[in-house]
Amino acid sequence: MNAINETVKKIRKKGIEKFCSPKRRDGHGGDAVSFKEKDYLAGNTVDAGVIILKTRGCWWGRTSGCTMCGYIYDSSKEKRQEDIINAFDTSLEGLEGIEYLKIFNSGSFFDPGEMSTDTVKAIFQKAYGIKSIRRVQVESRPEFLKQDILEDVVRSIDKELEIGIGIETTSDYIREHCINKGFNLRDVKDAIKVLKNLNIKVKAYLLIKPLFLTEKEAIEDAIKSGIEVYGLGADRISFNPVNVQRGTLVEYLWKRREYRPPWLWSVVEVLKEVSSRVDVPVLSHPTAAGKIRGPHNCGECDNQVYRSIKEFSVTQDAEFLIDLDCRCRRKWKKILELEQLL
Ligand code: SF4
Ligand SMILES: [Zn+2]
Repeated sequence: MNAINETVKKIRKKGIEKFCSPKRRDGHGGDAVSFKEKDYLAGNTVDAGVIILKTRGCWWGRTSGCTMCGYIYDSSKEKRQEDIINAFDTSLEGLEGIEYLKIFNSGSFFDPGEMSTDTVKAIFQKAYGIKSIRRVQVESRPEFLKQDILEDVVRSIDKELEIGIGIETTSDYIREHCINKGFNLRDVKDAIKVLKNLNIKVKAYLLIKPLFLTEKEAIEDAIKSGIEVYGLGADRISFNPVNVQRGTLVEYLWKRREYRPPWLWSVVEVLKEVSSRVDVPVLSHPTAAGKIRGPHNCGECDNQVYRSIKEFSVTQDAEFLIDLDCRCRRKWKKILELEQLL
């Protein structure tokens, strides 16, 4: 067991005691959150729906977890399958007319401990039954993407399915020592092979600025990973700049001023470079952009840069990323040089 895993485990144990007591959990709202947004699908900007379902949560996040992830504190340890299906039904009601449905459960859609096979099938049946929906996207760790299970589930689907995998980086070293992801690139490649066999689209989630990397190293790792996941067969690449979530190793180091979330300029740089070198949609929907806990610039230009990132993501028009400027861009460039020297 590596040292970072032991450290994350201790932080997780404390976090679960602090944030997941029954009293605290009462205040956590309903069983799902849903909203509409724009996204990019088959060459067009389309109306997309997002449903975030509350389940038992990610098994890896509960026992140890990734250094930046605090989603487990929003999960419910005991979750009845019928409640998940009911929450899904209710969420769908507000999403009329969407073409692309993105379902998140802050864990793995195909982990039977989170969602039973019957629940998965019921959700797909309802989602694909809606005429306007052309593609459904879910997410999963690679260990749950097995041929026999997926084959059984997708048998009755005659529209597109896309599965997102939090690959984070193509570097096994960074994934293990900076992210503590608990799987390696071989596992990812095996999973992608299964998805390709079954004609399922692959969405690769990549992280921008895991712990212990300088800003420049983070940009380089994200660009390299973007190009490499494209080579592995990704049909869509989504970059997640790190945001500081409660009860994580990232938060622990951030509070000690030993970590800063990435600059939005770094996100722009990664999107520009990767999109010019791959032939699939490249996007980013940064969480907490412009906030101190999220990817941010100087405070003055954050809104404009964030809007440009979003516009680019839903149109794939690189024009949105050029001609952006602010006084802080020079500071960011200096940091890229100086951090390396230090
Ligand atoms: S990032 Fe994903 S795999 Fe890692 S702990 Fe969070 S939900 Fe689990
Ligand atoms: Zn600025």
